[in-house]
Order: sequence, then structure tokens, then C-alpha cells
Amino acid sequence: MPAASRKIAVLALQGDFAEHEKSLQALGAETLEIRQASDLSKDFDGLVIPGGESTVMGKLLRDLSLFAPLRERLSQGLPVMATCAGLILLARRIADDPALHFATLDVTVRRNAYGRQLGSFFTRGAFGAWEDVPMSFIRAPSIVSAGAGVTVLSSFQEQPTAVRQGRQLAMAFHPELLSDHRIHRYFLEEVCR
Ligand code: GLN
Repeated sequence: MPAASRKIAVLALQGDFAEHEKSLQALGAETLEIRQASDLSKDFDGLVIPGGESTVMGKLLRDLSLFAPLRERLSQGLPVMATCAGLILLARRIADDPALHFATLDVTVRRNAYGRQLGSFFTRGAFGAWEDVPMSFIRAPSIVSAGAGVTVLSSFQEQPTAVRQGRQLAMAFHPELLSDHRIHRYFLEEVCR
């Protein structure tokens, strides 16, 4: 199905959800915001979990009674694209934090893993078959390990930075902050099938 006919829900509790909406809309997709439990009754083909603060988003998800229904939808195969804090929310293991959230993606992450020097940085790299994809990292987590069913799509300094497991696409960086929309298109066309 072409990207333009997709309807994507963007978790809009905190973080840079507006930038995801702009990227998706630039590709012609329709977006709607998830802010409260009643928003989940709307019809959508996929979900975006933005960057921000995973601890804050995790708390708001629970306080607003969004956590359990979303986890259920994710475990039933709702297509999802998660960036940075979103990746932390999906991770099955968090190396340096006792909290766990949706835990549907078979990876171990470490929060704020790139240290002070590399806390925020920009690079270009391969994403799947594409070369030279721009990537913006902001206090990003690293993916310490990934299970056998997880495909690595991008790496930086020999550590995975973007992964896919079935209908879950997650990355440590922020494609929504840049004008290259290839990764959003990949989500719309390849993951939301
Ligand atoms: N450091 C944040 C966290 O631990 C993630 C940063 C981001 O989403 N840009 O949740």
C-alpha cells in the first residue's frame, strides 16, 4: 500500500511527536495523536513512539491508562516505529535501569550510553541497503545486544543503532529531526504492511 494512504497514530504525551507528524505528513500519510485512552478507539494502521524522556513517558502512559492497552496492541503485532526514548520503551531489557515498559522488542539497551562527549552528535551511515542516511543522536541509548529474531539495519561504532523485529522498527537516533524522510517511508511502506 502506498505511504500516502496510511493513517498513523503518534504518541503525543511528551517529546518530539510534532516532528514525527511533520515527517509522516510530508509523505502524504494521515496522522492522529494519542493523548488519552479514548484516542485508542480511533482507527490507525501503525504507531510512532517519539524521542523524549522514557521515564516521563513511561509514567504518563501508566497514569493515563494507555500502557496496558498499547502493550496489548503491540504484542498483537501493531506496526510501530520508535525513536530514542521510544526504543527504550520497547526494549525487553534495560541494562542500567530497573524500570521496564512495553518490553516487546528483544534487545538490551543502555540509556544515555554515548557519554558526555558524544551525548549529542550527527553522523551519516547505512540504513539497510541505503548509504549516507543522516542520523541525529541526542542523549541516545545504545543497543547492547539483540536477540536472534532481530535484524540490525544500522550501526555506529560497531553497535546496532536501528533494528527491526517483525512489525517493530526502532532506532537510537532521530530521523524525524531531518529532512530525509526515507526511514519514515520505510516504516509506512515496509513495516505497516
Ligand atoms: N535519554 C533519554 C531517555 O533515557 C532519551 C533521549 C531521547 O529520546 N532523545 O529516555
